[in-house]
This record gives sequence, C-alpha cells and structure tokens, in this order.
Amino acid sequence: MICVLAGGVGAARFLRGLVQVVPAHDITAIVNTGDDTVLHGLSISPDLDTVTYTLANAIDPVRGWGLENESWTAMSALARFVDVRPHGSASAPTWFNLGDKDLATHFYRTARLREGATLAQVTSEISQSFGVDVHLVPMSNDRVSTFVTLANDCAAGQQGTEITFQEYFVKHQHSVAVSSVRFDGASTASALGLDTLNSAQTVVIAPSNPLVSIAPLRALQGVDAALTKRRESVVAISPIIAGAALKGPADRLMTELGHESSVVGIAKLYAPICGTLIIDTADAHLASKVEAEGMRCVVVDTVMSTPEKSQHLARTTLESAR
Ligand code: GDP
Ligand code: CA
Repeated sequence: MICVLAGGVGAARFLRGLVQVVPAHDITAIVNTGDDTVLHGLSISPDLDTVTYTLANAIDPVRGWGLENESWTAMSALARFVDVRPHGSASAPTWFNLGDKDLATHFYRTARLREGATLAQVTSEISQSFGVDVHLVPMSNDRVSTFVTLANDCAAGQQGTEITFQEYFVKHQHSVAVSSVRFDGASTASALGLDTLNSAQTVVIAPSNPLVSIAPLRALQGVDAALTKRRESVVAISPIIAGAALKGPADRLMTELGHESSVVGIAKLYAPICGTLIIDTADAHLASKVEAEGMRCVVVDTVMSTPEKSQHLARTTLESAR
C-alpha cells in the first residue's frame, strides 16, 4: 500500500499520476477536512471532492475545482433572496459557488451524515459512485475546522478577528494577511488511517499547502508520531517552486507565519517527519541547503501541467523512497 497525505489540487494532480504507476486499489489517500464547511445546511468537503472529481476525470480543467460541464441555475436563483434576508443572516450565501451537479454530491453527503453514516463511509460511497478505486479516507470522522486570524484591520474584519478557512480562501480570495492558523477540534478528534500510515510501504506527503492542508492532518493525535517513527520511507514533494506557490496562498502564508517561502522553509517544516524532499529543477541550487536540514533531496520537474508529468513525478517519488 502507498499512503498519500493530501490536500486539494496539488494532491489530486499527484494522485492522477500515481494511479498510472501503482494499481489504484493499492493507494490510500488521507485527505484534509479542515476546509470542510456547512453552507445552505449542506456539508461540503472541498478537498475530498477535488480529489474525487480529479481521479474520476470529471474535474473542471479550467477552474481546477468543481465538475466539468457545470451549470449554475441554483446559484443564480439564490440571488432573489439576497434582498429579503434579514441583516446578519448567513442564509443565501452567494460568495461560495456551488454548481448544479456538484450540489448533488453535497445533498448526498448531507443526507447520509444525517442518517448517522460517518464521513468515511459517505466518502467511500461517493468515490465509488464516481468509479474511483483509490481508497479515499477523510483525516477524521470528527469535525476539525481551520480558522485564520487577521493580521491587520481589513475588509474581512478587525485585526485579531478569527474567520473560517473558506471565508479567508473564497470570500476574501486569500488576499488578507493572517497572523495565525488554528485547527479547532484537532486535539480531541481521532485520526483515521493511522494503521495505513504505519504499515504502508511508502508514505507520500503530496505537494499541498503545508500550513493549511497538511498541518491539519499533522495536528491530529498520533500522526506526526507515526511519521517520525518511519521517517526514512516518507517522501514529500515541495508545493513551493522558486519561492512561490503555483496556486493559492501557500507562499504568502509561509512568510506571514514566520517561515521562509522556499524549499528550505519546506524542509524545515518536514525534516522531523520525512526523510526525502523532492524539489523542482528551478530550485536545484538549493539542494545542499535542503540536505543541511537533514533530508535527502531529489531534484526533478515537479510542475504537473499534464497527466504525463504527474505520472513521471509519481514514478520518481516512489523510486526515491527506496
Ligand atoms: P487546495 O486545497 O486546492 O488549495 O490545494 P492544495 O492544498 O493541494 O495546495 C495547493 C498547493 O499545491 C500550492 O502550494 C501549489 O503550489 C501546489 N501545487 C499545485 N499544483 C502543483 C504541481 O503541479 N506541482 C507542485 N510541486 N505543486 C503544486
Ligand atoms: Ca484545500
């Protein structure tokens, strides 16, 4: 079994390549649920859905999230309620786009959770319905919610105010500075997939945001300890290339939260739990600095712009773990 610690887009692209190298049923992805939210009363799990839709070849290739050939009739119809909802009401939020077909996923997840199913069960059912054979495991069945604290007064609120991850990421398009991140519920939630984490032949930390996608997993009891114990067969792929994130706020968050936005900053975060760091050719000159943090360093093209590139990166990743 190959175990992959996963956020959203970067992990999904990596998994898309990994299934070309290893049979899908020999792969378990433990997926971040700190981004999960409830809107319109619906339980939404963005990272799980990004991974599922990508592996099903159903992701919208341009947007990078949601389903392809999507329509937005429900979202448009919601607009009529915006003028009548009372001040302060959280109903009819229009800042988080949910496509018509995508809504069906959230309907199903919500209904099954209400019937008493666990998130792991529902996740398995949804991935099965999409024909995905990779085992997708939410990091916990318990609710863990990522919050960020605003570093300055801004449109999102006063300095020191906590907002939810989706308010930060989607509503404010991650354009506001943050001073800290917190994973509410992480200290009491029980981690899923610990057995796989211990027994897998190789553990891969996908090129996902280290501070808001991988950190929630690491905040769960037992995860860092399991990784530390088997550190030599844990491989990470840097989501930072030439100092920048390919997408999203990973680079700014690194700087704002006191880390170096570079492969060296990634090495410092991962060295205790991971023996090998894969960095992009653009960062080849930093390989010795990565090694100085106590990690083996492998240099390869890590930009997964095509399925073939994802496959090549997956193969290199598995080889470098041996
Ligand atoms: P999100 O949950 O959808 O935001 O996605 P992730 O948690 O997976 O984090 C996005 C991170 O993935 C960003 O830091 C990107 O730089 C990184 N990423 C996305 N695509 C690639 C890729 O092709 N190669 C590498 N090395 N990193 C990537
Ligand atoms: Ca995410």
